Amino acid sequence: MAFFIQSHRWIDGLVPYRVAGSGITDDDRQMVLAAIEHWHSKTRIRFWPRTTESDYVKIVIKHSGGGGQSAIGRRGGIQDIPIDTGFNPPWALIHELAHAAGMFHEHNRPDRNQFVKVTSKKSSYAVEKNGIMVGPYDCHSTMAYESDPGFTYIPGACEVSGHGLSAGDIKGIGYVYDGALGSEVKTYHWSSGWTTAFFYEVGSSSYMFFLKEGTGAVDIHRVNPSGTVGDLVEHYDWTKGWTSAFFYKVAGKPYMFFLKKKDGTVHIHRVNWDGRVGDKVDEYQWTSGWTSAFFYEVGGQSYMFFLKAKDGTVHIHRVNADGTVGDKVIEYDWTSGWTTAFFYEVGDQPFMLFLKAKDGTVHIHRIETDGTVGEKIAQRDWSSGWTTGLFYQENGNPYMFFLKSWPPLPYGDPTAAARVQVLPDGTVGATLDRYQWTAGWTTAVVYRVAARPYVFLLKKDEGTARVRRIGPSL
Ligand SMILES: [Zn+2]
Repeated sequence: MAFFIQSHRWIDGLVPYRVAGSGITDDDRQMVLAAIEHWHSKTRIRFWPRTTESDYVKIVIKHSGGGGQSAIGRRGGIQDIPIDTGFNPPWALIHELAHAAGMFHEHNRPDRNQFVKVTSKKSSYAVEKNGIMVGPYDCHSTMAYESDPGFTYIPGACEVSGHGLSAGDIKGIGYVYDGALGSEVKTYHWSSGWTTAFFYEVGSSSYMFFLKEGTGAVDIHRVNPSGTVGDLVEHYDWTKGWTSAFFYKVAGKPYMFFLKKKDGTVHIHRVNWDGRVGDKVDEYQWTSGWTSAFFYEVGGQSYMFFLKAKDGTVHIHRVNADGTVGDKVIEYDWTSGWTTAFFYEVGDQPFMLFLKAKDGTVHIHRIETDGTVGEKIAQRDWSSGWTTGLFYQENGNPYMFFLKSWPPLPYGDPTAAARVQVLPDGTVGATLDRYQWTAGWTTAVVYRVAARPYVFLLKKDEGTARVRRIGPSL
């Protein structure tokens, strides 16, 4: 399909460019515009005449023959694309712009030996080990040379045809850019201590719920159509100690679940149609120590998953039609240390991902049609410190976002945030983008308003919050 560099995305899918060189003719300009028009007609990437941006592409028209050239992805600063528009065919610039957008040649893929026999020893023909393969090898890609002195196609393996972006290129570019974090929409400087944040929708309005475990303060805000946090709808002063809180819907009715890890108190509330927390539906007094709790649906039945990080106890309960916690479906006695757990679906297949912050162990399990945890399908050994994991989908493509906030400052180096590729079989693939941020981000929420995706990020210790766009701005 397509083969991409890790990171080096153009923010919001916008690539500022200008045309330079001497003796530029109308034909030269026409060819540049035609190549850009091709990209605009098939992708959400936009090549934009540069104004004041410091990172941009400079298309340098030359008249000395030879092929074009481009760096791979956004490199920072000015990056030249020298090209002889008179000597090269029109699609050559489409190819160079693909490099600038982050695409490698198909013959640099790790699986290339099934398709090409590489004879050149030059480094430009070497396999790119850290690239991101999206889909199978694409012989129709604009990044697949028709013929080349450095390799030959294995007979029958590849029918190279067509120029310009292939269907596979277009899908790949969508995958890599649609889920990428975009520009910042707004920053907030709030009070410190917010430990829980989640997004929910009731009626046709969007809300964000914020809770301080340490004081029991709760704020509910409207979410504006622009993705920003809007007016305060309601403030509550509850008892302190609520460690888990989430929103869910059963039989079309909205509820919230609240849990105190320390003493096992659970409250379930209705949610009113104006977004406020309504009547208490039920309460329970459980054992202490539940650290993870979430809601999920499999085969039309609702469940809740509960986990104790300290000893690995897991309980799964059915959720009743009135929103209350029903019968226990199953319990497990796992190893200790699982600090992050979440549910997701790829295609129609449900999965759960489990992560240990302390040593970076990741397990992925299939979920059975009766809601129980099925076989482990993948295991990863990451670095330690990943504390938050989120699953989201854009244009049908699955992604995961992970945030590192352990150990807390000043001991750790919690500067890393990453977005990971989710493969069609539900396992996690290459890291599409890695972000180096300031330290201290503890909470992340992905949500959509007005059909656009956003990520909300929060630092508990200083109260800084930030909303960023996801995907291209167009
Ligand atoms: Zn090339």
